[in-house]
Amino acid sequence: MPDAAVAARSSETTNSGATQQVDVAVVGAGFAGLYLLHRLRKAGFSTVVIEEAGDVGGTWYWNRYPGARCDIQTIDYSYTFDPELEKAWQWSEKYATQPEILRYLGFVADRYDLRRDIRFNTKVTSATWDESAQRWQLTTSNGAGVSCRHYIMATGCLSTPKPPEIDGVEDFKGEVYFTGRWPHDEVKFAGKRVAVIGTGSSGIQSIPIIAEQAAHLTVFQRTPNFALPAHNGPQPADRLAMLEGDRAAYREQARWSLAGVPYPQQMAVSWQLSDAERRERFEQAWATGDLVYVLTQLWADQGVDIDGNAHVANLIREKIREIVKDPATAEALTPHDHPFGAKRPCLDTNYYATYNRPNVTLVNLRQEPITAITASGITTDKRSFDVDMIVFATGFDAMTGAIRAVHPITGRGGKSLTDVWANGPQTYLGLTVAGFPNLFLITGPGSPSVLSNMAVSIEQHVDWVVDRLVAMRDAGFTTIDATETAQAGWAQHMGDCSMMTLHRLANTWYTGANVPGKAQGVMPYCGGVGPYRSICNEVVARGMLGFRMTGPGAAEQCNDGKVVHLQPDVRLVLGMLAEMNLPQIEQLGAEGARGFLTEFNKARPAGRPVGEVGDGVLHGAEGLLPYRLYRPATPGPHPIVVYFHGGGWVLGDEQSDDPFCRDLCRRSGMIVVSVGYRHAPEHRFPAAAEDGYAATRWIAEHATELGGRPGPVLVAGWSAGGNIAAVTCQLARDRGGPEIAGQLLICPVTDSRYDRPSYTENAVGYFLTRSMMFWFWDIYSSPADRTDPRVAPLRGDLKGLPPAFIATCEFDPLRDEGIEYAEALAAAGSQVEQLQARGHIHTSLMMVDVVVTGASARVKMAEALRGFAGLPKQLGSEQDVAPITVNAAAG
Ligand code: NAP
Repeated sequence: MPDAAVAARSSETTNSGATQQVDVAVVGAGFAGLYLLHRLRKAGFSTVVIEEAGDVGGTWYWNRYPGARCDIQTIDYSYTFDPELEKAWQWSEKYATQPEILRYLGFVADRYDLRRDIRFNTKVTSATWDESAQRWQLTTSNGAGVSCRHYIMATGCLSTPKPPEIDGVEDFKGEVYFTGRWPHDEVKFAGKRVAVIGTGSSGIQSIPIIAEQAAHLTVFQRTPNFALPAHNGPQPADRLAMLEGDRAAYREQARWSLAGVPYPQQMAVSWQLSDAERRERFEQAWATGDLVYVLTQLWADQGVDIDGNAHVANLIREKIREIVKDPATAEALTPHDHPFGAKRPCLDTNYYATYNRPNVTLVNLRQEPITAITASGITTDKRSFDVDMIVFATGFDAMTGAIRAVHPITGRGGKSLTDVWANGPQTYLGLTVAGFPNLFLITGPGSPSVLSNMAVSIEQHVDWVVDRLVAMRDAGFTTIDATETAQAGWAQHMGDCSMMTLHRLANTWYTGANVPGKAQGVMPYCGGVGPYRSICNEVVARGMLGFRMTGPGAAEQCNDGKVVHLQPDVRLVLGMLAEMNLPQIEQLGAEGARGFLTEFNKARPAGRPVGEVGDGVLHGAEGLLPYRLYRPATPGPHPIVVYFHGGGWVLGDEQSDDPFCRDLCRRSGMIVVSVGYRHAPEHRFPAAAEDGYAATRWIAEHATELGGRPGPVLVAGWSAGGNIAAVTCQLARDRGGPEIAGQLLICPVTDSRYDRPSYTENAVGYFLTRSMMFWFWDIYSSPADRTDPRVAPLRGDLKGLPPAFIATCEFDPLRDEGIEYAEALAAAGSQVEQLQARGHIHTSLMMVDVVVTGASARVKMAEALRGFAGLPKQLGSEQDVAPITVNAAAG
């Protein structure tokens, strides 16, 4: 039986004056609205879809401008909910044209008999929550109002064109078109002087085609954009073979991917590849004509790191210079003001080559802004252009425009959505808004939406919403509303996610920057499609966490709380570790654990280059110890940081903390000497502590030989290494030197008490477990020794110690003793700076280039060390490397 034959209760449609009573009203009959209607019907909900246009299609109904196509490959940009539908439709091209996509949506509407529940040519003019009836009351521009239990905005992200914001448009006597509202009748360019304003995707797709037909085309460009060749043609055989080989697996991989297209996570980092290797990868990607491929498959750091990104951006800039013959035009077309991908890049067909045509002129509005549109054309502050036609490809009031501006939405207590969102959109999961019960947004702000393959995100949103409505109905609930706590938590998580990417570094429609006066902030969810899906599932698994539900047939249920507490990349790392089903380190024995750690570390990205890395030996407490020295690329002599690795006095070596030492060296501009102190059980307490002290003394005495600045040294360490660094400061004070200018303690062990709350709260689940700590303690020291300040520095005399920077992580058993040490040091008169890294675990700050959100903490640590050494906190021109990973939220 075809799905369409599944009957839902019909709505009670009355004559045109009366109200239409339905379970659910949906606005929009595009990709999202059509699938919603299908699913809601199947679930037995009476539904009406209200659509402003005269037919289905949504954005594909309106955006009929010449050259309009999708820029996600069509095999991926399709519905996947019904395998029969997939079999019944064949796309003719790799990137389908707008007419073909519109035909596809019409085909879907026919196949499931959807049109009969769609009210076309109708706009919702207001939507008001009726508290007494517990329903939404809608007024419409055409015919009956609607009363519905649930109200769902399937309005799309790019459906409300923004005004051109240029004076005089109404004075122009020629033809005026907007790409986002293109007429259904053919527009004739032949023999005409045409102006296109705007060089986003719409401009870039339409400009080459208009240029082929017009007598002359003048393009008015404010900001150049990155564009890549689509290499359109038949559907690529390799992708088709993958899809047809195992359709279900292909689709499932897309659902759990980052962008909604089944590509693996790229692991190689840019600095591991030679120039030639990077170029080869880039050329291959350029030849694929696949935006998602180029955005995700070159090297792992391209989307999260300025340096990694610059490699791609420069290679594209080279391409522009190669294609465009006139150097001045090429330069004007070359983007320099944003990282590649931070603003939506475009897929093009002959875009740059179009500027080689004699009938095309580029006007760089950065050099000569438009002053007015006149009766005959466009005037800049330098000259006037007479034209017959102006095409505005000036974009949209994205993400919020269609929801907020199209009609007033009034929620609980008479609150308007426009007011609630005055400072930027607030949602829970991008799907709901606190205070607006039973209102759902599909691909709303706060969902992955425009940073993903929309088809995949839409199906996930729709399935989640409809499944919730069914579950509510089954449980007797009639209202659902997000809690303020959940919504605030989502805003925090959104902010954390946006720190992982470069989107916040560009002024774009993603951030609201394209609309004057609009609140600024990254609106789509930057954490990826798969992680987002898992969070939505978690909300359900945890009893509709963050929602209050009521109904006459059930007791009120409010499961208040935030769904994500961890930093997004930490959450991913923990998820991956959980899937790997790793052995418990404490079950492996010391040797086994060391071997495991060495193997485990092989999978991480290699540390970044520094000026020089060299190994040597130094004198420890009872013999020679290995060390590894990291020297900055800048001229010395540099201050020296003596560094102690982590590993519970049992594990680790100079290699285990290598990426961190490199990062510290680069960020601080100082020499880092990582000391290979002795380990237990071969050498129990106080071997590690005594080695730490002896090594520091030796390094201070040999500073000049090491190429370092003579005088005070600094000490630093992570975990047990932090313990050794803290102990070294106490011993140096008590034993007559060496002079230590400052101590950096990262998640240090400071005490042998295990009853602080962090030990209990974080006993399991965050990599370093309580039982692992017990194991370390037992191997290193006997209970009788554990009150000795050489292993429990919190119990020592804390007066007269060097200034300290102490970093602790929220989800770490060692958190509270680190905080206590910081407070005790400060109370004893030391200068102390504390960083409590929210959402991080014990290993976070060490996981350079994996836990990107730890970067801002790493910046602060390096700045603190520089401050201790009497250097300006910020690295100045003396460092010959570009700024490293973008700052990210940690504190
Ligand atoms: P857009 O990316 O926002 O581009 C608008 C262009 O107009 C920009 O170049 C902008 O310059 C310029 N502009 C805006 N106001 C202006 C003014 N007052 N004076 C001069 N220039 C002005 O809009 P879009 O091209 O319509 O694309 C929007 C999004 O829709 C795309 O990013 C994409 O996600 C989607 N889309 C996709 C496809 C596809 O291939 N499937 C096609 C079209 C659109 P500034 O950058 O300086 O603001």
